[in-house]
Amino acid sequence: MELKETKQLIETAMDHLSSQSNVCSSSEENQANYCSSAKEILKTTDKIVKSYIRVSTEKEGILRIPAYRIQHNNISGYYKGGIRFSEYVNEKEVENLAILMTLKNSLYRLPFGGAKGGISIDPRKFSEKELNQISRKYVQRFAPDLGPSHDIPAPDLGTNEQTIDWMVGEYKTIHPGKSYHGSFTGKSVANGGVRGRREATGIGTFLSYSWLIDDWLSEQRKQNAPNRTPQWQTLNRLFNEEEKEIRVAVQGFGNVGSITAQQAFHYEKTRHKVVAVSDRSTTLYHPNGLDIDKLITYTATHHDLPTNLEELAEARVEAHVLPAEAVLTIDADVLFLAAVEDQIVASNMADISAKVLVEGANAPISLEADDYLEKQGNIVIPDIMANAGGVIVSYLEWKQSLTEERYSKEKTHHEMAEQMIPTFEAVYQAYFSSTEKTLRFTCFTVSLRRLVDLLYRHGKLY
Ligand code: GLU
Repeated sequence: MELKETKQLIETAMDHLSSQSNVCSSSEENQANYCSSAKEILKTTDKIVKSYIRVSTEKEGILRIPAYRIQHNNISGYYKGGIRFSEYVNEKEVENLAILMTLKNSLYRLPFGGAKGGISIDPRKFSEKELNQISRKYVQRFAPDLGPSHDIPAPDLGTNEQTIDWMVGEYKTIHPGKSYHGSFTGKSVANGGVRGRREATGIGTFLSYSWLIDDWLSEQRKQNAPNRTPQWQTLNRLFNEEEKEIRVAVQGFGNVGSITAQQAFHYEKTRHKVVAVSDRSTTLYHPNGLDIDKLITYTATHHDLPTNLEELAEARVEAHVLPAEAVLTIDADVLFLAAVEDQIVASNMADISAKVLVEGANAPISLEADDYLEKQGNIVIPDIMANAGGVIVSYLEWKQSLTEERYSKEKTHHEMAEQMIPTFEAVYQAYFSSTEKTLRFTCFTVSLRRLVDLLYRHGKLY
């Protein structure tokens, strides 16, 4: 979903909210005006900062690289969101991702607003020394806009705990004597990070999906049969036949995709078989299922998935090697999209065979494709609901930095699930009892309702 589509959906969801009762604690009469001013506020981004980072590289000499920090809205708390290093980074993309952070944080009732940062580089093409320079210069450029009680970055695509540790180091140099532990999240554990963060988003992504199955199979749900017939039939076909195996495909084998695939591989309640996984160059497919643990062991040292028979033999995995994009249209029941944005769009939406799609990455499905899939009886679990594990664990890390407490990995994942479940319940409840709105639309309205209420309470609406 692109920037203009996100804004378009905010617009439609706000118009829908305005016709509902009790949107903010105001009289019905003023509600329409309040909703319309809230809509203008939320469709506008608070601050866009663009800068250029000069870096001296071994291969290409001195480069000037565009870099961004975009703060969308902070009505629900300090600006929060990752910094990505990717060759596709541009202003519109970063702004879109900043808006999605506001919506995601509000959906999960976190005390954060939304922001995002990015540097337009392919990090694979830079040495460690160069990446260190780039990370530190990013903080130098954006220091006035960052801080533990203002805007708190974290890792995202192409960045990791090492990037964040470098950034914290630079932040500390720039602000001697100031509090710095809560200035970034996603730090290494030795540097104040939280245990279990790397796996958090993947675990959360799978949880958003397994909760759908649990919710569907619960007695209460069966008794209150939902109004949504096509989705009802999809779920019935997939999960109510005892012997049926669920075939899973996962696009992306990084921190999110590999962990999501592993969760599916070990899932016990229903029979799941991961038939396909992919990374930027390859899809591996086997109708009888792939051994995800072995693939994770292999990628830990080789970085990429095996691409030929020799490498497959070394990984001790049997699979057919297909082109990277094959994973999207492979014959599977469930497709986890855990790579990058704009993967399912008008040109390929009719070729998707999976009936449940889960957005582990941000914005992989266009608005048009989302509507189309919904009409076909598919269920799309949207990014702001499915990939919040990372920022929820960021919240725990930020809390940890205030109290000096140290959470175990188990406690981190347990707290993350506790934070997620009330949102799953509210969203699935609202979704299944309506007749036409998509799950994404439902998430937007749940999230926006909270933001409008806060804007109202802060006296920002007129
Ligand atoms: N980059 C992650 C996201 O898109 C985490 C952001 C954070 O922890 O602030 O949700």
